[in-house]
Parts: sequence; structure tokens; C-alpha cells
Amino acid sequence: MKVMKFGGTSVGKPERMHQVAQLITKENEPKIVVLSALSGTTNTLVSIGDALAKSDKEKAKEIIDTLEKHYRSFVLELLQTAPARDKANKILDEHFEFLNIITRISFNEALNKDILAQGELMSTKLFSVYLEEKGIKHALIPALEFMSIDANDEPQVPAIRQKLIPVLASHPGITLFITQGYICRNIRGEVDNLKRGGSDYTASLVAAAAHCSVCEIWTDIDGMHNNDPRVVGKTLPVEQLSFEEAAELAYFGAKILHPTCIWPAQSEKVPVKLLNTMQPEAAGTVITQEAGSVGVKAVAAKDGIIAINIKSSRMLLAYGFLRKIFEVFEKYRTPIDMVTTSEVAVSLTIDTDAFLPSIVKELEPFGHVEVDKDQTIVSIVGNDIAQTQDILSKLFDTLKPVPVRMVSYGGSKHNVSMLIPSAEKLKTLKLLNKGLFGLN
Ligand code: ADP
Ligand code: ASP
Ligand code: MG
Repeated sequence: MKVMKFGGTSVGKPERMHQVAQLITKENEPKIVVLSALSGTTNTLVSIGDALAKSDKEKAKEIIDTLEKHYRSFVLELLQTAPARDKANKILDEHFEFLNIITRISFNEALNKDILAQGELMSTKLFSVYLEEKGIKHALIPALEFMSIDANDEPQVPAIRQKLIPVLASHPGITLFITQGYICRNIRGEVDNLKRGGSDYTASLVAAAAHCSVCEIWTDIDGMHNNDPRVVGKTLPVEQLSFEEAAELAYFGAKILHPTCIWPAQSEKVPVKLLNTMQPEAAGTVITQEAGSVGVKAVAAKDGIIAINIKSSRMLLAYGFLRKIFEVFEKYRTPIDMVTTSEVAVSLTIDTDAFLPSIVKELEPFGHVEVDKDQTIVSIVGNDIAQTQDILSKLFDTLKPVPVRMVSYGGSKHNVSMLIPSAEKLKTLKLLNKGLFGLN
């Protein structure tokens, strides 16, 4: 059994869905196909929720109508026969009736999660109608029946396995399963999700739960590139990454992968492949247990970082000081990404301002607190990078023109991270592309 996950752009146009159908029927290995929503849909659903949260029902209705038009014309191109189009339009009737009803009732966060789930529900149902029209035998298995998160909003592989295996077994003779990425049920049984970009996470969780031979992530680029292709001109795919390297890159901003999607596959030693739907013959990137070659493989950048500096000449050297500081972040369930300390100060970074005012207030008794927003973490990732000769001198040479605020080195064998003002990101990534990879 293998998992094949197709992202938004891979299903975003009718001809792309046709192509996906070809890719999944190429060979006989049984497979679970995980689909995202059509590209742009989840953003649109977010804006519907935003409008309703502001009680702007007219705006919400306007957005829903535009989305509906898009789906109605999508169906006309996706399907050729009248019965199939009829079936697809009935599916759309249901989902758009739901969205329209929601504009008339009182809005809350649980309803918002229902809104966000519509994209994946529609893409998989439409794809299933297309497969049926083509006579391709398959089963559409609802992710809401087996994908779950616990009381801490974390998915657990054993819990998913326990529900997924009977669902698969209830379709004897079927070797092609289609399901939704991203969506799940929470501990209260409500519809929830694995956060933006979460379809990758679904794929990895399902691959681990079903002990798959491989988890293929099909997207619009031929693998993990050495730098962010949206920011710098010339980038190249990285052939091989270890699970650790891939996890660091995903966590520190490589958008091609959801930040936490590596651990489930890693926990069951399922290799992950990043492949291009538009160029299926390209080698892409293989992510496995093996570390592969030593040295720098790629850089990534994570925006929206907040730096907090606590200065205290009296307390820092006292034992227990750092614990007290960290406890404040623990209390507000806010993860810390980077930490540096000196004799009189500690600097750390977080990636959300959800509880910032409360955190600052509770830190103030410990010393003078300074907050800098609009920061970016740039991570340089590679196997045993900390052992790579001259890496630091090369980095500092390359980044001479950049005001680096913090450096984290030695915490992980695979990563050197720097904190820079976000306004310097473009320059920094371009300098690293030239300095580390010789690319312009
Ligand atoms: P999908 O909709 O298939 O999940 P995403 O948009 O989430 O696709 O991820 C693919 C995109 O990630 C690429 O189009 C690319 O612009 C972006 N990206 C950012 N950093 C990298 C990187 N280091 N390597 C490859 N792609 C990257
Ligand atoms: N559709 C969801 C999103 O856009 C999940 C995904 O595509 O991975 O975030
Ligand atoms: Mg994605």
C-alpha cells in the first residue's frame, strides 16, 4: 500500500485532475490518495469566515457566490457525460446550501472549522465522480471517520490506525482509496483541521498508520529546492534528505512541506518522496532515514517571528532563572524557536503574538523586556553541518552586509539558524544562494 497526496495546484484545474487520475492508475500497488482542496479554495473559505466574524453577511454571500460560479464551471470541464455532471452539481448544491445557511445563523469557531472543511470535501467528491465516469474502481473514504486529534490538538498514529484499518477492510476487493487531506475530528467529535497546509500531515499520518511502503507528496515543483524559489531566481532540487533535515527545513519555512509532517513517516520509517505532478518523470526529492552526504543542502526562511529580550543584571546568573522564563511560555502554550543567552540577558523568539501582551506582562518582573516584531529566521540545513569545516566563517563572510541579530549553532547537528529583520530576507537569501551554492 502507498500514499499519494496531491496538493491544491495539482487538482486546481480540471485538466490537472485528469492528469492525477492517470498518475494514480499507472501501476497496480494499492493506494490511498489524499487530496487537498482546489488551489485558492481554502483561502476563500478563510475570507468567508473572516467576513462572518465581522458580521459582514453581504460580503460573505458575495464570496460564496463567486466560489460557486468557479465550481460550476469546473464541473463542466471536468466531466463529459450528463449523469456525471448531474451528480456533481447535486454535490455542489449540498455544499453551497450549507455555506449559504451558515451566513444566516450565528457564527462561532466550530462553525468556522466546518466552513474550512468544505474545500477538501468538494475536491474529493468531484474527483470521485470523475473516476466513476471513467469507470475506475475506487472507494471514497471520509477522513472524518478516521482522522482525529487529541485533547492537545495533536494527531496520534495509533488512534488513527485503529479507525483507518477497519475502514479500509470494509471495502473488500478495492485497491484505490480516495480521502481528504487537512480535515479531522477533535476530541469533542467536532470537525477540525490540521492547520494550513495540513494535507501533507494527513498523508504522512495515513502512511504511518497503514504501514505504507512510501508516502508520495505530489505538488507543483520537482522536490525540495536548495532555496525558496519564490524569493530567489535560480534554485535546484535536492536529491536526498534525511528525515531530520527535511523536518528542519519544513519547520523553518520551506513551504513545500507542512511544518510537522515528517515525524509520522519517520516514526514508522516510511520514505517520503516529493514529486511534481506537472513533470512526473523528474526525480524529485527522496526523504529517508539515511543522512546522505555531509554539508549544506538547503536554506529556508520563516517569517512572522517575534524576538523577546529580557535584561536582568541581578537574576540571570541565578539558577532557576531560565526555568521561570520558560514557564511563562509554557503557561501560554507558546513554543520558543531560538534562544541565546549572555551574562546579563536572554533573547528568544516565538512565531505567534496570540498571547504576547500577557507573556510580556509576566516577564516584566524578571527584568527589562524588549520586543521586536517583523523578524525572520533563516536556517541553513544539512547533514552534520556543525562539523562542516569553515561553515561559520563562510556564513559570516557571506552575510557581512546583513545585520544578524541572533545566531543558533550547535543545538542541532543539522542546522545553523540566524535571526534577521524581515526587511533583510530577500538580500540574505540571495547572498546565501551565491555564497553557499554558487547560484545567482
Ligand atoms: P501544495 O498546494 O501542493 O501543497 P504548496 O504551495 O504548499 O503546494 O508547496 C509548493 C510550493 O512551495 C512551491 O510551489 C514553492 O513555491 C514553495 N516552496 C517554498 N520553499 C520551497 C523549497 N525550498 N523547495 C521547493 N518549493 C518550495
Ligand atoms: N487546503 C488546505 C490549505 O490550503 C490544506 C492543504 O492544502 O494542505 O491549507
Ligand atoms: Mg502545501
